[in-house]
This record gives sequence, structure tokens and C-alpha cells, in this order.
Amino acid sequence: MRYSKLFLPTLKEVPSEAEIISHKLMLRAGMIRRLASGLYSYLPLGLKALRKVETIVREEMFRAGAQEVLLPMVQPRELWEESGRWQKYGKELLRFKDRHEHDFCLGPTHEEVITDLVRREVRSYRDLPLNLFQIQTKFRDEIRPRFGLMRGREFVMKDAYSFDVDEEALDRQYWNMFEAYCRIFERCGLDFKAVKADTGAIGGHESHEFMVIADTGEDEIASCTVCKWAANIELAEVKSGSDSGDEGEAFDEIKKVNTPGVKQVEDVSEFLKVPLHKIVKSLVLETDKKDVVVAMVRGDHELNEVKMKKVLGCDELTLAKEATVERVTGAPIGFAGPVGLREKVILIADNSIKSLRNFVVGANEKDAHLLNVNWDRDIKDVSFSDIRNITEADPCPECGSTIEIRRGIEVGHVFKLGTKYSEAMGATFLDKDGKERPIVMGCYGIGVSRTVQAAIEQNHDELGIVFPEPIAPFDLIVTVVNVKDEELRASGENIYKAALSKGIDCLFDDRDMRPGVKFKDAELIGIPVRITVGKRLKEDGSVEVFHRKTRQVELIPMEKLEDVLN
Ligand code: ATP
Ligand code: MG
Ligand code: MG
Ligand code: MG
Repeated sequence: MRYSKLFLPTLKEVPSEAEIISHKLMLRAGMIRRLASGLYSYLPLGLKALRKVETIVREEMFRAGAQEVLLPMVQPRELWEESGRWQKYGKELLRFKDRHEHDFCLGPTHEEVITDLVRREVRSYRDLPLNLFQIQTKFRDEIRPRFGLMRGREFVMKDAYSFDVDEEALDRQYWNMFEAYCRIFERCGLDFKAVKADTGAIGGHESHEFMVIADTGEDEIASCTVCKWAANIELAEVKSGSDSGDEGEAFDEIKKVNTPGVKQVEDVSEFLKVPLHKIVKSLVLETDKKDVVVAMVRGDHELNEVKMKKVLGCDELTLAKEATVERVTGAPIGFAGPVGLREKVILIADNSIKSLRNFVVGANEKDAHLLNVNWDRDIKDVSFSDIRNITEADPCPECGSTIEIRRGIEVGHVFKLGTKYSEAMGATFLDKDGKERPIVMGCYGIGVSRTVQAAIEQNHDELGIVFPEPIAPFDLIVTVVNVKDEELRASGENIYKAALSKGIDCLFDDRDMRPGVKFKDAELIGIPVRITVGKRLKEDGSVEVFHRKTRQVELIPMEKLEDVLN
């Protein structure tokens, strides 16, 4: 590719819309442009990097025995009714009607569609196992899209689904995928950790998240400094969305009790559909105010205030040792603390609370109550023991060594689904004895677009991006210092053509611009190797080979360049 023809609008200024370095760099390097909240256009450089990651993902998925499919992005309501998620999924699911008034949604994930496909085709145990994947644009109407591609509303995901005869076979698929994921993220040049993800809310099934270690990550992870143990603490950030869109059973719609005098929250469902999925024996609701209320509801749970503050990232913590239980506006039962709704309300209760339906959460104030709050949909289990027990002072639960707590970006997630979808949607097979049984499923996601940005978040310096070689948009950039000089230009041209003929993805900077500008752009866009054709060529017949990462320069005679390109 010739730079003079390439649509690569780099920026000198740091765009104000970006908060974190990778987002700033992607905009400055002309990789992406924002269209609207959470929606981005990929420019040639950004798309090339994305494709490189896709290629790695594809190769490793094929190597692991998976097959590629492509499923519709628009999905009919009926399928989501079957799985029960039309009601449960919440506002992240973008719904709309077609011209015949039929309801549809944009796929945030594809369990329903793939289960439907498989139930129609798979008859017997002989048709199994299956592992099907796709790389596709997903849409999730995230409550707070931010950080560019990190939390977009439209984003590229690789999602795979496995189908097996029993738990044992699923277990093999699961670890097979786990290993494929390790290879993928290694090949992308990432410093990552596979961490145990929550199982509480999902009902004891195995799940791991792949986390890219970065201070700007939204998750907090504890990991052992010696053995492989690592877990997601995941309470530090109130996040939108849910893992695999698993939002529990269907309940009545949540309502704000509307009595005068207290500030009205604009859209109650908006914040209550924010599932905080890791508190065991406690409830977390996100509301509109700043500090945090902890209301002890039942039982005699001990609470480490300091740790709680740290994990929640708040300075103030209001503790209500005894919350009252009251009846409000005819609702079955009410849990109340002494203060109005706050940004996060954590109610600590024993498991008996889980059997309650459509209860009220709020405070001993008028109009500070929410009706029809339900466990699993509005409120999720969080490992409360994690909050209490895990700090850097604690020993590793596996080997007793020191642990460390760091932040991470979730780039991948593997998940044993079991028979949840196959039972709900009647995806069965006949086993060896001719008995009908539900197919045992797993699902495996990778945020492809998020991975590109996470790689930049980890690989950059003050001058710009330092792409890991396997995902760099170009392998090589050939910079002619002065294109008006025919000899230099012709030599540059030769190197460019030689590189292309060897299958090297080469960018030829043939622009008639000052060398300083050209070098700055090359630094910014982070191509791993630069060959500079300049005055050296005239002096001693050599060109400069510059390595972006180490910043080392080699002087190579033109005639030896062939070896370098090999
Ligand atoms: P998060 O916890 O960040 O909201 P998730 O757990 O909801 O992610 P999954 O349902 O596990 O996401 O989807 C699989 C992968 O898709 C995630 O591991 C992540 O890498 C990616 N992903 C999820 N949501 C987004 C998003 N809004 N923007 C970009 N990538 C995303
Ligand atoms: Mg989510
Ligand atoms: Mg996840
Ligand atoms: Mg997650």
C-alpha cells in the first residue's frame, strides 16, 4: 500500500472524546472514528488490525476443531420467548418491529439462534459433538458505552457454541476451548490471565474469563504470584450487561413507587437492569445518588468496612445494622434501610431472601422505594466472601503464597451452559439406547474489537502505538526521506516491491512531506519495522532498519537487505 493513496487521517491533537490511552491512540492513528455513542467506523488501518486478530482467532478455532458459520444478526422475538429471555434480557437488547409489526431484536449473543439451528438438524448421538463459531457484529445497548471499542454498543465478537452428549464430553470441549483461547491471546501478544469467573449467579457451572492486565480495566482480579490461581473479584465497578445474557427467571416489571416529595429517578428500569452478579447473600442496586448504603437485612453477617470501601471504590459508606422490614403500597414485602436510594445499595441477607418474589427495596423515606424487585433479574449474587476475605494480605486459597490484585479487561469468556437452552428450547438427541436426552452445551466468546484496543492499551509508548507483530496492520513501513530525489525514491520503490513479493505486508511512505512528519506518523501508527531510505544510501549505500519496540537501528547495505526481508 502506498501511503500517498491510503485513507489514514492521523491527528496531532489528542481528541477530547477519549479518556484512556488506547482510545486516544486509535483515534490519533486514524484507525477508528466515532459515529454516535458506542458506534465506530473502522478506517483501513483499524480494519487491518481487526482482521489480523480475526485471522488468529479463526486459525485457532479451526485448529481446535470448530467450524465456522454465520448467523443472522436480526433475530425474531419468538425464539427469545422460548428461552425466556425476551422478558429477562433488559434494555441491552435492542428491540424493534418490522413492517408487518413483528417483533425482532438485534443479536447481543446467539444462544437462541444456534440452539434453534442445531435442534432442527441433530437427531442422534452420532451427530455430536459439534462446535460452531462465527465472527460477527453484535449489538448491546450498553447503559454506559465508553473507552471507544472497549465498551461499544456495536462490536465484533467471536462466539462459539458446543454441543455434546454429556457433561464429561462438555468438559473436554471446555478445556479444549480454554487452551485455544490461551493460544489466541498469546499470539496477539497480550499479557493476560485466565481467571475463575463467578458461578454463583449462574448456578455452579464452570466459567473462566480471559483478562488483559491493564490499570484501565473494568474488572478487578486477584491472582497468585506463584501458582495459577486467579479469580475475578468483580465488584469494583457497577457494570451493565450480563454474562451470556443470563438474567434469570421472568418477573413482573419493576416500578418506582411514585409518591411526591422525593427526587424522581428518570428511568428506573435503566439502572435496575444493571445486574451486579457477584454478591452472595447481598443485594446491590444502582440508583441515582453518590454514596453507598449498606443495609444489613437479616442474619448476623460480619462486614469489613475498610475492605468494602476499597472494593466499591467509595469514600463513604453508610452502614445500617438493622434495616426494617415493612409493607409498602401493597407489595409483598419491603426491605428498607434508613436512608434514601443511593448509587449502590447493598442489602445483606441470608439465602431465604431468594425465595421472595416481587419485593420492595428502598428506604424509610417516601418515594424511595422500588416495586417488583427480584433476585436474579435485578439483583445478582456476588461472592461476598471475596469482599471480606481477599486482599493482598491474604494467602492464595490454593497454595498459600502471596496474591496480588490488579485490574483487567475481559477479552474472552468460556462458559459451561449445561442444558439450560437445550431444555428450554427442546434441543434433544437420541442416545445409544434410543433414549431422548437434552444436548449439553457450552459457549465461548471473544471480544475481537475489544482485543485490538486492549492490545494497544498494553503496547504503546509516549510516541504512539507499538503493535505486537502478529496483529500489526502492516509488517513493515518503507520511508523515503525525500521523494523528490529520484535515486532515493527508486530504491524505496524497489524495497517496497521486493517486500510485497515476499508476502510482507508493506506500507510505502511515498508522500512528499517533511521527514519529521513522516517519522512521527510512523511512530504513531506503530508498524513494527521501518526501513528508512535517506542520505546514508548516497554516503555508503546503506539503509536504516528501525525496530519500533526496542528503538534499535541497524544500518544495512542495500545488497544485504534481501536477507533482512527473508
Ligand atoms: P462485560 O463484562 O465487559 O460487559 P460481558 O461479560 O457482558 O462483558 P460476554 O457476554 O461474556 O460479555 O461476551 C463475550 C465477550 O464479548 C466479552 O468477553 C468481551 O470481550 C466482549 N464484549 C462484551 N461486551 C462488549 C462491548 N460492549 N464492547 C466490546 N466488547 C464486548
Ligand atoms: Mg456486559
Ligand atoms: Mg463475560
Ligand atoms: Mg463480564
